[in-house]
Amino acid sequence: MIDEKIKLFKNSEVIIYNGDNLLVDKKIKELYSSKKLISYGLKENNDVHLEKNVKDEDLIVQYFEEKISFPANQRDEATLTNALALLTVLKELDIENQKIVQKINALKAVEMRLEAIEGIKNNIVINDSFNLDLDSLKTALQFLNEYKKSKKSLVLTDIVGVNSNSKELYEEVSDLVNEQKFDFVFLIGNEISKFSELFKAKTFTFINTQELIDSKHLTEIENQIILLKGARKFEIERLKDILELRKHDTVLEINLNAILHNINYHKSLLKPTTKMMAMVKANSYGLGSYEISEFLQHHHIDYLGVAFVDEGVELRKKGITVPIVVMNPEQHSYETVIEYNLEPEIYSFRVLELFYQAVQKSGYDKKYPVHIKLETGMHRLGFKGYELDQLSQTLDHKNLKVQSIFSHLSSSDIPTEKEFTLHQLETFEKNSTYLIEKLGYTPIRHILNSSGITSYTNHQYDMVRIGIGMLGESPSSEIQKQLQSVVSFKTVISQISIVDNGESVGYSRRFKTDHKTKIATIPVGYADGIPRLIGNEIGNVGINKTLAPIVGSICMDMMMINVDNVPNVKEGDTVTVFNAKPSLKEFAEYCKTITYEVLTSISPRVKRIYVKD
Ligand SMILES: *Cc1c(COP(=O)(O)O)cnc(C)c1O
Repeated sequence: MIDEKIKLFKNSEVIIYNGDNLLVDKKIKELYSSKKLISYGLKENNDVHLEKNVKDEDLIVQYFEEKISFPANQRDEATLTNALALLTVLKELDIENQKIVQKINALKAVEMRLEAIEGIKNNIVINDSFNLDLDSLKTALQFLNEYKKSKKSLVLTDIVGVNSNSKELYEEVSDLVNEQKFDFVFLIGNEISKFSELFKAKTFTFINTQELIDSKHLTEIENQIILLKGARKFEIERLKDILELRKHDTVLEINLNAILHNINYHKSLLKPTTKMMAMVKANSYGLGSYEISEFLQHHHIDYLGVAFVDEGVELRKKGITVPIVVMNPEQHSYETVIEYNLEPEIYSFRVLELFYQAVQKSGYDKKYPVHIKLETGMHRLGFKGYELDQLSQTLDHKNLKVQSIFSHLSSSDIPTEKEFTLHQLETFEKNSTYLIEKLGYTPIRHILNSSGITSYTNHQYDMVRIGIGMLGESPSSEIQKQLQSVVSFKTVISQISIVDNGESVGYSRRFKTDHKTKIATIPVGYADGIPRLIGNEIGNVGINKTLAPIVGSICMDMMMINVDNVPNVKEGDTVTVFNAKPSLKEFAEYCKTITYEVLTSISPRVKRIYVKD
């Protein structure tokens, strides 16, 4: 075929060709050595080639002896090769460098035919069901390497409309495919199916797309990247509809693996014997109490901590069997505490009496486990030092077992309050030791919360209570670097409008444009938990890695964003409300509050999505 095509150039004076293709290079040089030949390509042996391809830096093209540099956003091989071809032609036509650079930069990126879609079961689906030839297969396979997923599958159809020897063709196809080490390969079509032996992956063959759908193989795949590559007549885009996650526009995405990483990081600071309680109160800081607890139970957390009895009951009903401490059991709920095998925090004589009555009434005949809270400086709940004698006497007569003695630090995250914190720790040491002596047995002790774990590690006692730290947030920038971000609040652009100079945006006309301005509307508002006070250019959201200010008043279900400075912005683009750019911390700063309040304020109507990668 190459011999045929090459004849086309017999009358050309100059031939500009892609020298990366060794066969083309060889043939052209053999046949046309008397003509002016210029080769371009990514490889260095070409007359025109790329000198450097470093992300975020200008590209440098070596054009014979000359170096030409230009910026480029698209850096995939196909685009770069095309740019080199273009540059070579323009040089040959004697166009000035400056003009060439300007023109090449003005080129719009060709809409990628490959689309990456979030799939069901945490898959990523790469859909390229428009055409199929060797080159487009190569590009698609190359595209896969940009994803970090370690497992991958391929759906591939017959290559149609090629006259070459099919054995040779499919040998080349299988070589390309085998290089990628797919886990599963699904071949569709009579032709390609004949060569299934050539594919090294676990390979299945189907006559048509429907047969693959009926086999249900695809819907069993989890945690993979799935490439759909087919000739148009096979209509494999139907597979995309089956594999695609029906997405909510606005989601709070929670990365469970990151939680595990963060827990393990905190554990790495502790003695191996130190137990860990995970605080899952307030719906796990807004992220979903059951989902997080289930995951933590699976990873052998020692204790869970909730604020109220209802939260503990919900977990028990859904099958959580780990010991659960209820920090603030309301007095009408003690029977439920016992019924659901929850362990109450006892912080006063009143609670102690009432709870004990409930235990007696319930007929519970063993010693019921309780957790004694000591007041050490926070002045929230707890027994004071002078109450300990009476406490130990009261406990003596009762059929209760002190499972743990604990307290809470008010300021472990505030470096300037170190002296106060050390004083709290000292009080805890003194008072808990005293109580243990009086009790005559030794319950476990705990006082550290997340920032306590990182700043006062020596005071870990027998257990620590992790909260915000497992969600990847730390007040210390050093520790923050070691943690992985867990939560991201995302939505999409509903509409983009060009607003004329002098027009107003939103309720009460609080924002007016001072030039023609590109405004995007996104479908989240104060009813989703975005405080209204961050409207009017106080807060920002992230689009295409760029911060874009919120303009005008935040509405109940929507808000408007100035996207003038966002490159390539379009409707449907993902918007990050927080946790990348801006970070959760930055977002909390816009709101003049702390990360805890931001998370617990996100309305339940925002869909929570859990990812494990
Ligand atoms: C919420 C809570 C914690 C966890 O605090 P973080 O700062 O999120 O680590 C620990 N102990 C008690 C008693 C709590 O109420």
